[in-house]
Amino acid sequence: MNIKPIAAFADNYIWMISTEGKAAVVDPGDAAPVIAELEARKLVLDTIIITHHHFDHTGGIETLKRETGCRVIGPDNPKIKGIDETMSEGKLVSVLGYRFSVLEVPGHTLDHIAYYCSDSEVLFCGDTLFVGGCGRVFEGTFSMMQSSLEKLGRLPAATEVYCTHEYTLANLNFALKVEPTNEDLKNHFEACTESRAENKPTVPSTIGRERAINPFLRWDSPIIIEQLKVTDRYEGNSAAAVFGAVRAWKDQG
Ligand SMILES: [Zn+2]
Repeated sequence: MNIKPIAAFADNYIWMISTEGKAAVVDPGDAAPVIAELEARKLVLDTIIITHHHFDHTGGIETLKRETGCRVIGPDNPKIKGIDETMSEGKLVSVLGYRFSVLEVPGHTLDHIAYYCSDSEVLFCGDTLFVGGCGRVFEGTFSMMQSSLEKLGRLPAATEVYCTHEYTLANLNFALKVEPTNEDLKNHFEACTESRAENKPTVPSTIGRERAINPFLRWDSPIIIEQLKVTDRYEGNSAAAVFGAVRAWKDQG
């Protein structure tokens, strides 16, 4: 699958899939950079893929639909104007000939969904799973978000993870506080620091790497549980309790 980032706002990535003169974009919060990219690469917009209702993911829908007549797929949420086909758990949808299955991943928002292509091992997960982090829990509960992340964490290790924000260095700085002796984490922090110094994206990651470094997928790590205890944040050993304590710690800044 040919997937390229289009930078938008301060730190958003609008992912563009392209094949044979056609394109699809994921979460176009802004139409202008998408139109510029379509023109530069002589591509016709076929489909807009939406993960959740936040404006920095949906703000470009109206203009892009008007300008290109593309179809829009996304969550079943009337707050999002312009959706042609609503998606729900287990639904299969074809985009540019690639078959994606829909995963419901509530927590960041209640309508949040992700799109997984098993043939190409690609995941578009919006603001649910980030490199070394996860989205803030605005609408759901910590337990709901933990279940959603666990669902994504069960995908094959080679799955490429395309999230919507370049939050990686801040996330990894926090992750190092939570799990200071994780060697994979330290190595990935160094690699991402170099990438950012060269202004390169740190996305995509992979599910395998996130399982190894992301504190929001590592609720069974003895090091994390120990850090929660020594910093007086420990609320129990269950996955939801460890996740919740780490998320609350991150929210405190
Ligand atoms: Zn969001």
